[in-house]
Amino acid sequence: MKADEIKEIKQLLATPQNIVIVPHRNPDGDAIGSSLAMYHFLRNKGHNATVVTPNDYPEFLKWLPSSEESFKFDIQNRQSKNCIDEASIIFLLDFNALHRVGSDMQGYLENYKGTFAMIDHHQQPDDIATYLYSDTSICSTCQMVYHFFEMLDEVASINADIATCLYTGIMTDTGSFRFPSTTSTTHRIIGNLIDKGADNARIHNNVYDTNSYGRLQLLGCALSNLKVINELNTAYITLNQKELNEFNYQKGDTEGVVNYALSLEGVIFAAIFIEDVEQQIIKISLRSKGSFSVNKFSREHFDGGGHDNAAGGKSTMSLEATVKKFKDVLPNYKIALLNSYEI
Ligand code: 5GP
Ligand code: MN
Repeated sequence: MKADEIKEIKQLLATPQNIVIVPHRNPDGDAIGSSLAMYHFLRNKGHNATVVTPNDYPEFLKWLPSSEESFKFDIQNRQSKNCIDEASIIFLLDFNALHRVGSDMQGYLENYKGTFAMIDHHQQPDDIATYLYSDTSICSTCQMVYHFFEMLDEVASINADIATCLYTGIMTDTGSFRFPSTTSTTHRIIGNLIDKGADNARIHNNVYDTNSYGRLQLLGCALSNLKVINELNTAYITLNQKELNEFNYQKGDTEGVVNYALSLEGVIFAAIFIEDVEQQIIKISLRSKGSFSVNKFSREHFDGGGHDNAAGGKSTMSLEATVKKFKDVLPNYKIALLNSYEI
């Protein structure tokens, strides 16, 4: 962000404001972590801040401090709209385009006349924010929020709650500090967050070691559905609605499952296709190692996007037809897939 923009934001925040903080639909650890960190920061500075999530999020994120104070736009619609109507600033965190909040909330935000401030690490952000802090090289929006506090000279204001939220988002978006986007700066920030009160062992436990029995059984089902296309260094997993129902699927239960496909030796491109009968879509998650861009692949074929090595998408065809399309287009990428990553 430019110095004059930071100066303007400082001026804006110099007097108490009504502020709304919005993460993307189906928020993950980084979206919720950055939103709640910003919430605590702004509240502590005397602002009337509210987090409005487009919809609900998984149980393994609900222990985060003040999670219960956030509104869900789809459920607490009236309260959410009131907050948006009264906000002088809306922070858009961890997403790059308004359609990422879902069509209902998108429609409402498009009529908002105040100031948008976007902080995000996804590619090609839409030109909708007065203040845009975009950096695709940074591992997580939570790390960017930390840098944002640095730019405001406010690192000293990071308390244990803020540190906990930021730690959680950095941890989840870096696959527990293992993806290439994790830098020495990331580790230094993580060290500072621990010093400020983030209880690292407990955070890992709360996010990763609170599985239900059904979730582990569903993982077993997903792994038995795993298919490998050896000649294209690709593996994919399917889960149909019947299987999800059988194991009492709860929001978040499939998070991270695609990474098992990517963990296979020799695999550099992994996909998971999950049937959602209610929304009448197949939700797709794509992951890669090396130069093969799943963001580009998803934009080209599955109406989605994200990062080079982690992206999402969707299809309105049946599960079978979606997988067939995937397998049909895949050979076009043979050279890119074989050259993506030194195995
Ligand atoms: P996931 O596979 O975990 O849902 O998403 C992986 C990454 O891609 C996340 O950073 C997520 O925000 C982004 N992403 C997921 N779905 C979409 C989509 O439909 N469009 C765009 N632009 N990004 C997406
Ligand atoms: Mn993120």
